[in-house]
Amino acid sequence: MPRTSRAVVQTAPRRLEMRELPIPDIDAESGLLRIEACGICGSDAEQYAGTIPVQLPVVPGHEPLGIIEKIGDKAARRWGVDVGDRVAVEVAIPCGHCRACLEGRYTLCRGRGHAFGYAYVPLSTPPGLWGAYADYMYLDPHSIVHKMRRDIPASLAVLFNPLGAGFRWAVELPDTGPGDTVLVLGPGQRGLASVIAARAAGADTIIVTGLTRDAPKLALARELGADHVIDVEREDARVRVKELTGGRGADVVVEVTANAPEPVAEALHYVAFGGRIVLAGVKGFKAVPDFVSDLVVMKEARLVGAFGVTSPSYRAAIRLIESGRLPLEKLHTHDFALEEAEQAIRLLAGEIPGQQSIHSCLLPDRRPA
Ligand SMILES: [Zn+2]
Ligand SMILES: [Zn+2]
Repeated sequence: MPRTSRAVVQTAPRRLEMRELPIPDIDAESGLLRIEACGICGSDAEQYAGTIPVQLPVVPGHEPLGIIEKIGDKAARRWGVDVGDRVAVEVAIPCGHCRACLEGRYTLCRGRGHAFGYAYVPLSTPPGLWGAYADYMYLDPHSIVHKMRRDIPASLAVLFNPLGAGFRWAVELPDTGPGDTVLVLGPGQRGLASVIAARAAGADTIIVTGLTRDAPKLALARELGADHVIDVEREDARVRVKELTGGRGADVVVEVTANAPEPVAEALHYVAFGGRIVLAGVKGFKAVPDFVSDLVVMKEARLVGAFGVTSPSYRAAIRLIESGRLPLEKLHTHDFALEEAEQAIRLLAGEIPGQQSIHSCLLPDRRPA
């Protein structure tokens, strides 16, 4: 057992460095995870750029998949896992006692300070290894872990996170069911995951919008279960949505585009009377121009914010991955070594000309290219 772990540490906006951090001792209630894979998330790019305020220095990486290397007796009993088990780890480390936790909204827990969760606890809080851009990660006593089969490649198993988001944002929050028309704005990894989840929930018609340069992602959306796709730069999306929904609009609109606030205002035009709009794409705190609130009133539309993923949706995602029913490998486009974290983030953020990714992950076992 090594005494230190490599960890990518963010020291300032757009500054990452590799460090060796001590591997902590484990008590009866905690554990140590050997990271197999860490998914790269849209919010990783924002954390890297400094648009999401995170206390630095910090080890990023909030989508951990790994093997339990060490575990205390109490933790093993509570979590129902043991040394050698593969687990998917939830971002949130909830206190279990605050009002949010007691009301079942544990992803909003602030009981241990601002957004206490993996990748958001700074190095200065012992034991420091709070993120998955590393060989090892500390498992706090309040961790929420889900056991997963070990025979699935780590880079696919780690899709539990974006797929979990699909189930929570496109199904759980808007209560999507058979007969519903679901419109997904944005064909990124979360949009495609929303298509998969809506299809699994029995949605009737699924429509996905994207830009002209998103053509390959829109084609993949079709392959994963979308009935129709709309190129918003070449088609009049309002007209197309009307056509495709028999003039009614969509029962559920899932807004997962990044940065641009305009689709939020557009969603009001796409939604059906009595429909639900889920807002999950963050916009760097920009205001939404042309937001016609009367449309919310007159349509009695419900606007729901989505922040993070909860256990039922993670479980649905994990079962779907384990079922092998879908060609999920088509979602996964890039593997990176730990040393390549910066490249991985910049690729997802679209900062590498001529290259596009859908889902990518860091694999600590991998050697850099
Ligand atoms: Zn994430
Ligand atoms: Zn709490």
